[in-house]
Amino acid sequence: MIIDAHTHLFPASVVKNRRSFFRRDEAFRLLYENEKARLASPEDLLETMDREGVHRSVICGFPWEDPALCREGNDFLWECQARHPGRFLPLTCFSLRSLREAEKERDRCLTQGFAGIGELASYRGGLSAERIRRLTAVLTPLRGKGVPVLLHTHEPVGHEYPGKSGGALLPVFRLLQALPDVTFVLAHWGGGFFFYELMPEVARAAAGVFYDTAASPFLYRPLIYSLALKIVGAGRILFGSDYPLLSPKRYFSEMAEARLPAPVRARIQGLNARGLFLGNQRMVFRGKIGYNDSDLRPKPAG
Ligand SMILES: [Zn+2]
Repeated sequence: MIIDAHTHLFPASVVKNRRSFFRRDEAFRLLYENEKARLASPEDLLETMDREGVHRSVICGFPWEDPALCREGNDFLWECQARHPGRFLPLTCFSLRSLREAEKERDRCLTQGFAGIGELASYRGGLSAERIRRLTAVLTPLRGKGVPVLLHTHEPVGHEYPGKSGGALLPVFRLLQALPDVTFVLAHWGGGFFFYELMPEVARAAAGVFYDTAASPFLYRPLIYSLALKIVGAGRILFGSDYPLLSPKRYFSEMAEARLPAPVRARIQGLNARGLFLGNQRMVFRGKIGYNDSDLRPKPAG
C-alpha cells in the first residue's frame, strides 16, 4: 500500500477566494499570496493519487491563528475522509493562541478518530521558547500514546522561502527533550535534524522520531535518501509529497534515482505510515488525558 504521509487540502471557500483570508491570517498570506502557490481540493488530490498509484493520503489543513478557522478546517478534513472512505487520513490542527481551545480541539478531533495532529507550524518567527512551552502543555497528555504529531521544520541554512524564519534546529531538540515519548514526525527531513542523530544524546532524544520527505526535490539531492537511511534506518522515514506543492511521481523518480532496494522503498512509501497512522484509527479516546494505548506505539525498525 502506498501512503502519501503529507498533503494539504483546503475547503472550496479558501481555494476560490484565498485573498479574503489574507486579512485574517498573516502566515497564510505569507505562504499563499503568490498565486503560483497552489491550493488543492480533495477531488484534485484524488485524481493525482489515482493517476500516480497512491492508495491513501494523510491530509492536513493549515495552522490558522484563529481557533474558529482551525475548527472549520478540521471539520472539512473529516468530511473529506467520510465522503471518500479509505482514501484519506485526516490530521487535526489547532491554534496555540488559546491553550484551552487547543486542548478542546485536540480532544474533540482525536475522539472522533483523526489519525493524528499536524501539520503544526510556526511560519512567523519560528519555534520560540513561548511556543515550545505552549506546545508542551498541549502535547504532554499524548506522551507514550503513539499519536503521530506532524511538525513543520526547516533547514537552518540555504535559500530563503516564505515561512522559513527563526532558529531552526535547536528549538526542535528542546521540544523533543521536553516531550520525550511523543511520536513526532518532523516534516521536510526535519530540516536536516536527522544528521545530528550521529550524536548519541540527540539519537536518544529522537529515538521515536519519524522524518518525512516533503519538498525534498526542492531542497536536496536524491543522495539524501541513502544518507538518512544510514543514520536513522528504513523504519523511520515516510514518503510525503507536500501536495499540491509537488506530486508523488517526483519523489518516486528520485527514489529510483537513489537506487533504494525494493523492501526499503516499500517501507518508506507506505509500510511505515500504515503502522503509524492506521494504528491510531483503532484508538479509543477515554476522557481528557487517557487513550487506550494498547499496542499502538509504532515500533521503529532498523
Ligand atoms: Zn511544512
